[in-house]
Amino acid sequence: MSIRVLAVDDIQANLKLLSARLTAEYYSVKSLTNGLEALDYCRNNQVDVVLLDVVMPGLDGFETCRALKSDPATRDIPIILLTALKDDASRIKGLNAGADDFLSKPVNDVALISRIRNLASQKQALEDMRTHSINALRRVSNQDENIDGFTEDAESFDDGRNGQILVFDDDPITAEKITRSLAAEQAIKTVLAEEDASAALHSCDWDAVIIGLSNTSSDPLAFLSRLKAPLEFRHLPTLVVAKPEDEKRLQRSFELGATNYVVTPYQERELAARMRREVWRHRMLRELRLEMENTLELAVIDPLTGLQNRRFLERQMATLIDQSLRYQRDLSVMIMDIDKFKTINDIHGHAVGDVVLKEVSHRIRRSLRGSDLACRFGGEEFVCVLAETELDVAVLAAERLRREIESVPFIINDDGSQVKVTASFGITQFTGRHDSSVAMLKRADEALYRAKEAGRNQVISKAA
Ligand code: GH3
Ligand code: MG
Ligand code: MG
Repeated sequence: MSIRVLAVDDIQANLKLLSARLTAEYYSVKSLTNGLEALDYCRNNQVDVVLLDVVMPGLDGFETCRALKSDPATRDIPIILLTALKDDASRIKGLNAGADDFLSKPVNDVALISRIRNLASQKQALEDMRTHSINALRRVSNQDENIDGFTEDAESFDDGRNGQILVFDDDPITAEKITRSLAAEQAIKTVLAEEDASAALHSCDWDAVIIGLSNTSSDPLAFLSRLKAPLEFRHLPTLVVAKPEDEKRLQRSFELGATNYVVTPYQERELAARMRREVWRHRMLRELRLEMENTLELAVIDPLTGLQNRRFLERQMATLIDQSLRYQRDLSVMIMDIDKFKTINDIHGHAVGDVVLKEVSHRIRRSLRGSDLACRFGGEEFVCVLAETELDVAVLAAERLRREIESVPFIINDDGSQVKVTASFGITQFTGRHDSSVAMLKRADEALYRAKEAGRNQVISKAA
């Protein structure tokens, strides 16, 4: 799919020129002549990068930029401001307004394409992360409620300060200048040699790395390429410091995964502003990832016992059955229900009932192999799926667990008071292509019913 660029400039001739250049790269280009229209367009259309003229009547580039970046619906869209040559004050003002980059007019074609491509791919990475989170959650969730809002918290305001930054520049004077630019708002560690940089990478959870493209003691592009190879550092923001004549190497560094840059001589405030963007971005990616892990875990784990829940079991059984068919492996299912659990609640109270449920879960988990699936099916009923286990072996495992529950008393209070607990078991096994998880659970449940009928505290199996 082609990159969708929105170009905003009050002068039609500029737009025509931009549009021609970008269309030649097979980008799809939308042109608008004022900031207000741009806001409206971005809210209602898919845009990968916005090119924004700074000087415009009505909403100027800074105001438009600030408005786009403060609206959750549009804040992920990268913005490149187009400013007059050498206008340092506007550059810094633009960065502080949330711009991701700016280019000086007249705009150099190669630089323009290289920046657009780089920013569009950064946006894509963020979008992929979001889509993954939401899809992953949908897969384990039956209800779609809350899904659309679930990443919002992850993006609460963060000013991009107090990050941990690793600076790798082999020229002590340059390294010192970088440190001076950032020390007021970031925690900096500087290394001059590549082996120190490599070692330092693993010593801390960095928010960003700065690499001097003029390093001569080792090849900075080779370092960047190695840095970005392992998955753990792929999304680590990386800012390169380039000389004006380094444009080619700068583009190469974007291709290798650099996410930002400064060109010497730069203003300290410019580097600081760019660094805040990188730190902010890194934290957002990290929070999205954590949020996703937590949400996924909540969706599949029973909070009281820490065992998997029924939703997870139902999803996972299909996979286990598939593998069992494909590799011709045995598969057994055990349903276990605590005997007269209602009486325990009635006599000792619900809280003690919960303690018993937790301890039973603990004994279940302990008695199974890591590859077995243990889930709280509901109330005081548990289902275990034993991979690569034939019926007889599953019955032995259940018998062992039954004894473990019956013979070791449950301590329910700090004063050491105990309660006796027993459980009944129904076991079955997978019988082949015509069998299913529903049919297996039904057979196991019938066996369990017979165990209850026969006086509880026993294991009964039903082969088919
Ligand atoms: P049986 O031997 O026939 O299984 O008898 P039972 O009392 O164990 O079975 P019944 O289904 O009649 O009662 C189950 C009880 O489990 C009723 C319910 O209040 C209780 N229960 C379900 N979930 C929880 C829970 O999370 N905590 C506690 N403390 N009790 C629970
Ligand atoms: Mg029961
Ligand atoms: Mg029950």
